[in-house]
Amino acid sequence: MPSLNIDRRRFLGAMGVLGAASLAGGAGSALTPDLAVAADAEFPVPKKGKPIEASVDPKTGDVKINDDVIVRYSSCVGCYSTCGNRIKLDRASGRVIGVGGNPYNPACAGNKLDFEAPLEDAYRSMSYANGHGAITHGTICGRGNGTLDGVSQPDRITVPLKRAGKRGEGKWKPISWDQLITEVTEGGKIFAELGEDQHVEGFKEVHDTVTPLNPEQPDLGPKSNQIAVMNTRADGRRQLNTRFATTFGTLNNFSHNSS
Ligand code: SF4
Repeated sequence: MPSLNIDRRRFLGAMGVLGAASLAGGAGSALTPDLAVAADAEFPVPKKGKPIEASVDPKTGDVKINDDVIVRYSSCVGCYSTCGNRIKLDRASGRVIGVGGNPYNPACAGNKLDFEAPLEDAYRSMSYANGHGAITHGTICGRGNGTLDGVSQPDRITVPLKRAGKRGEGKWKPISWDQLITEVTEGGKIFAELGEDQHVEGFKEVHDTVTPLNPEQPDLGPKSNQIAVMNTRADGRRQLNTRFATTFGTLNNFSHNSS
């Protein structure tokens, strides 16, 4: 395909007219000579910024994949809408370099793609090739786009944190998963290093479905009700947590919302 030296504003303007014209069912007849040149051109290669995952020939719909970029179609868990998203990763580093909408997912794509449609059609759906574009692509909201920072921002919490100062002082230190499990299950004077002498009950002590939690208030049930499970979304995690709560013997198993 011939290359075209066209600035970004002119290119987007041309694509906008092409999209509108094709929606009206008459792209070819609506083109001025200048825009016809744009229709024959390959998408411009960005001179800076993040690499694009593919380019689509706007005339033939041929898709050229950039093997340096991996694309995975997934689902956003930013909220209950559960929109589809698509994640771009740099193949060499594994780093997430972009998040966008998933054109296969009805939660975020008007006129979604059929699940059987090949991935090349997903690229075409996000281009203006062959009359496609602007009607099938998926979108995600700002929070969904924040996935990028959620994965890569350096303050993300990836290990257990234990209080390292007085309550409310906001001081924390990272601990190992083994230490977390041991202290949570065994309990003990787990803040002795801070000069605190109180005994903290571990799961082993609380796992008691016979002894009343408070003999003066038998309606509170057994001691095992001391454990409260703050649950999560119904995407598998809730079922797992509920199984734990039931097995442990606590009634205090709450939903992600207030129910
Ligand atoms: S993209 Fe936005 S609306 Fe959709 S699930 Fe994610 S956070 Fe919710």
